[in-house]
Amino acid sequence: KAKEAGGGVYATYDPAMHDALTQRLSLAGDLRRALERDELVLHYQPTVDLATGEIKGFEALVRWEHPTRGMVPPLDFIGIAESTGLIVPLGRWVLAEACRQAVAWGRPLTMAVNVSVRQFEAGDLAATVAEVLAETGMPAGRLCLEMTESVLLTDTDENLSRIVGLKALGVMLAMDDFGTGYSSLAYLRRFPMDVLKIDRSFVDRLGEGDAEDETLVRTIVRLGHRFGMRTVAEGIENEAQMSALRGMGCDFGQGYFLSRPLPARQAGALLEAGVPASTP
Ligand code: C2E
Ligand code: MG
Ligand code: MG
Repeated sequence: KAKEAGGGVYATYDPAMHDALTQRLSLAGDLRRALERDELVLHYQPTVDLATGEIKGFEALVRWEHPTRGMVPPLDFIGIAESTGLIVPLGRWVLAEACRQAVAWGRPLTMAVNVSVRQFEAGDLAATVAEVLAETGMPAGRLCLEMTESVLLTDTDENLSRIVGLKALGVMLAMDDFGTGYSSLAYLRRFPMDVLKIDRSFVDRLGEGDAEDETLVRTIVRLGHRFGMRTVAEGIENEAQMSALRGMGCDFGQGYFLSRPLPARQAGALLEAGVPASTP
């Protein structure tokens, strides 16, 4: 019976596609329960001041400790969370947990939290953020919300007023993965962002002595500074990249060379010890 109804579908039946779909559906079901069962955890990657080597703060990155699949990375479930609407409660949990941890560390750290498009456009994100700040006692000025250009892609008055609403709370806003989207430059002018995060793909090619790659990154750093933003380089994996960025006056850096994202306990220990590779 189902076969008749779905004849067209079965004509192009592809076992690999079927597996992928089944996996997605089962992950979607599991994800709903994951939130209730405390299977989500945050790892924290330090943001290091490139001039002083000090840890300025952390970025919270969500992971899912799946009971049978093990650690599931965010790129494998954020999309599912977005399409099922689960991103709203999930995003709220991430915000609250990251702020709670930042306050618990008892230092004037910044905490960066990723916000996805769907989370930005669904409901009242500013109200949620205000609630979380009040609940956790996190000072607004130490929370930084990271958004990709896709959030700003729909350059509507509605999105602009959402941004203005968030800014009014006193939180910082960062443009994540800068340089990978479209018409980046126009957005910089229109949206009041505080931080510009240079995408890993640009950092990747640094330190190999290619003058054009260097010029490109140097230009992004200047551009950010010209618009009054702090610049953060993502994905620093070696010394050469770090010193090149330091030389360009890039403010902050993140990457495996400095530290991988760590569970809260280890991130706390790093706060005490400092980042070994960071000494200027
Ligand atoms: P992102 O915000 O651009 O985060 C940076 C990603 O690069 C992280 O991957 C991080 O582990 C990885 N990374 C950091 N340093 C290096 C390095 O030196 N080399 C390389 N190759 N990679 C590095 P992760 O944790 O898998 O997160 C991937 C993406 O998932 C994030 O990209 C972000 O867009 C999204 N994401 C993570 N957590 C959340 C969350 O709580 N909410 C939402 N909406 N999205 C999240
Ligand atoms: Mg990010
Ligand atoms: Mg990024």
